[in-house]
Amino acid sequence: MRTYEYVCPDCGNTVERDYRVPSIVRSCENDCGWDHYVRVDLFEKVEQVPESARPDDWNDLSESRKLLVAMREGLVDLSDVQ
Ligand SMILES: [Zn+2]
Repeated sequence: MRTYEYVCPDCGNTVERDYRVPSIVRSCENDCGWDHYVRVDLFEKVEQVPESARPDDWNDLSESRKLLVAMREGLVDLSDVQ
């Protein structure tokens, strides 16, 4: 069965699941304070948002807000988040 990898945006810890969603609700065992893991391919696309396109509060944005910026920049499309 195909699995999908999800990553903690803070420490990079990953887990695998057999379903494909943008993110999963999961407390990181490394005490990062994150309660979401983001699908790896989406996370990588979000990381590609250029400095110039990032709002000033980029680091404080939730992953879903960052995804919206990545979509605006054309790095992520709807099929990625379905
Ligand atoms: Zn973590």
